[in-house]
Amino acid sequence: MNRSSIFVGLVLVALLSAIGCKPEGAGTAIPAAQPAYRGAGPLQVTCTTGMVADLVRNIAGPRAEIKQLMGAGVDPHLYKSSPGDIAALSSADVVFYSGLHLEGKMTDLFTQLATTKPVIAVAEKIDEAKLLHDGGTHDPHVWFDVALWKQAGEQVLAALVKFDPAEAANYQARAQQYFTQLDELDQFCREQLAQIPADQRVMVTAHDAFRYFGKAYGIEVRGIQGVSTESEAGVKGINELVDFLVQRKIKAIFVETSVSEENVKSLLEGCRAQNHTVTIGGQLYSDAMGEPGTPAGTYDGMIRHNVTTIVHALK
Ligand SMILES: [Zn+2]
Repeated sequence: MNRSSIFVGLVLVALLSAIGCKPEGAGTAIPAAQPAYRGAGPLQVTCTTGMVADLVRNIAGPRAEIKQLMGAGVDPHLYKSSPGDIAALSSADVVFYSGLHLEGKMTDLFTQLATTKPVIAVAEKIDEAKLLHDGGTHDPHVWFDVALWKQAGEQVLAALVKFDPAEAANYQARAQQYFTQLDELDQFCREQLAQIPADQRVMVTAHDAFRYFGKAYGIEVRGIQGVSTESEAGVKGINELVDFLVQRKIKAIFVETSVSEENVKSLLEGCRAQNHTVTIGGQLYSDAMGEPGTPAGTYDGMIRHNVTTIVHALK
């Protein structure tokens, strides 16, 4: 199959997904025999979210040229691939995405791509016992537990070593260095968040992206919307959260860069009606990092920004 026929196939899959037809066998298939890289220059790698691209950037270094499909402020739950994305995916040597249904509208596309090249869902080989459930599926927001995101990094390392064995030693050396940095970041989170008094260790956010964060670092978390931004926040849900905030005397809630603030505003108004003042404790990066070149434009910077914002609001 040549590149243009792959491209046509992918466009077809994208169209079928858009009109609600699912081809058989959705789910991530890995081709039985993955080809090893034989190109001369850097690997062409296409990634979905900034967090995934950041992992690959740290482990592959200059060996990879990375295209990232979802920029700052983009919600991956609702994201639909553009024709430009399909071109970037079909011309890539390797594709990395987060997985666990985070990029829910691109599943069929990944299945199709996986018949021709390595397509790796970095979060899908994390220890099953460590994953949180949401009804019948898994909560995809694993990057908020730094130790789990390191496991996702191990998947990136394994895939790069397998596909491009000539560069294995470089990948391993870079990964070891980066994993040490992640251990330090995990420690930073623990030390900082320990400053929040026990009765204020509650985070209310626009959607339920912080359950792994809460579990790892001992904070109770509540989202106005569910684990996916596809679910609507009902009036009952908002009223229950207002009562919760009033009863627990919670002083601050948080907005997210990739989610609409509409529901957060209803919550603030609901509390005001019960004579309880709640403020916005700051903006958190949930499903997208900041703009490239800003402090929150890396995974490390995004986590540090969130932790510092939360500690400042709740301490
Ligand atoms: Zn999310």
